[in-house]
Amino acid sequence: MSNLPSEPEFEQAYKELTSTLESSSLFKKNPEYKTALKICAIPERVIQFRVVWEDDKNEVQVNRGYRVQFNSALGPYKGGLRFHPTVNLSILKFLGFEQIFKNALTGLNMGGGKGGADFDPKGKSDNEIRKFCVAFMGELSHHIGANTDVPAGDIGVSPREIGWMFGAYKKQKNLWEGCLTGKGGTWGGSLIRPEATGYGLVYYVQHMIQYASGGKETFKGKRVAISGSGNVAQYAALKAIELGAIIVSLSDSKGAIISTSDQGITPEEVSFIADLKVQRKQLTELTTSDQYKSKFKYEEGARPWTKCGKVDVALPCATQNEVSGDEATALVEAGAKFVAEGSNMGCSQEAIGVFEANRKEKKGEAIWYGPGKAANAGGVAVSGLEMAQNSSRISWTSEEVDTKLKGIMEACFKNGLETAKEYVEPTEGEFPSLVAGSNIAGFSKVAAAM
Ligand code: GLU
Repeated sequence: MSNLPSEPEFEQAYKELTSTLESSSLFKKNPEYKTALKICAIPERVIQFRVVWEDDKNEVQVNRGYRVQFNSALGPYKGGLRFHPTVNLSILKFLGFEQIFKNALTGLNMGGGKGGADFDPKGKSDNEIRKFCVAFMGELSHHIGANTDVPAGDIGVSPREIGWMFGAYKKQKNLWEGCLTGKGGTWGGSLIRPEATGYGLVYYVQHMIQYASGGKETFKGKRVAISGSGNVAQYAALKAIELGAIIVSLSDSKGAIISTSDQGITPEEVSFIADLKVQRKQLTELTTSDQYKSKFKYEEGARPWTKCGKVDVALPCATQNEVSGDEATALVEAGAKFVAEGSNMGCSQEAIGVFEANRKEKKGEAIWYGPGKAANAGGVAVSGLEMAQNSSRISWTSEEVDTKLKGIMEACFKNGLETAKEYVEPTEGEFPSLVAGSNIAGFSKVAAAM
């Protein structure tokens, strides 16, 4: 019995991690890690504050702001800021908790944290969003810094918002330092940071495909269903297209668009969608555009998973719990062989159960699940590279950053794979569990440091 209010998202993330640790040989080999897990479950610090700002009618508005400083064993707290009306402590604790182990998997020295506000940027003017960002930083600036806690973007926070917050921090403190990542390229941002989560996800899945096919297959010709249409989804789509994949879907909170063309969604269409997002418009605009309406089927209120026909690869890139148990079963039936999360906790616990059961039962013919804390680690990894560039006052070229990102994603994949072989011991012909392996590898690194 706990006297705490229920925190469903955090409890889900905690159970997901602990169930894989407990069913492996980790605690037998390292009994002291059980205590580390108990300690890890409680954030080092939670900061909650009010954010008071003025709207365009000069009326006073107030929102709730948060920063969860979860674990700093490996380095400064690191993790994004989310501005979305659903934000609450449970969601930020789940995201901060995941972030600890994700950051550990990158191999860089970053602790884990997360923050944000229940502010809804939808329907707000640019001026209102700017005022909110400045007001939010008015309080957050007391708690962050290049060697303390380095936030970045997440849902609702793009380089533009980072810019407004960075300017506010610099002015208040009279200090230029890498206190935020995801900055613009001309003022301390790393090249490839906007692309990093999406590109990194595709690099990770490339390794899954190579391993599962014994090096015979690539993305070429594979039908890829993607959810979401933000930064992560856009760059995952573009990189997969570059590697010869056919992108069959994208989506937003109102529905999914399914490509009706054999070649799938084109880079021009992705760029049209990116422009829509900047203007904060919905994907339904595609259905009324003369140029694009014949190229898509619009599924109102639906996620893509059951709507795309045959699917080889599924990449949830929108938000948490966006693949249900039934949708996971539908993906298995649609022939999907790879599912990897661009979003954090994109798959519900039931969906993970379906994928993991299939992996055990169907062995080499199974669907293979890549968890977000490994598969989407590319974003925070390049944030870590941005911190390194800021501290040493240098900038790396796109090629340099992309090469490092590829190396980190390969290490994330191999670390999960090898750790699963060591601690979970898959039976003959079974793909190692990447969820168990990644959880154990990330957690062990943090526990050892603690
Ligand atoms: N929000 C991203 C994530 O979930 C990036 C965090 C960062 O760059 O600090 O990993």
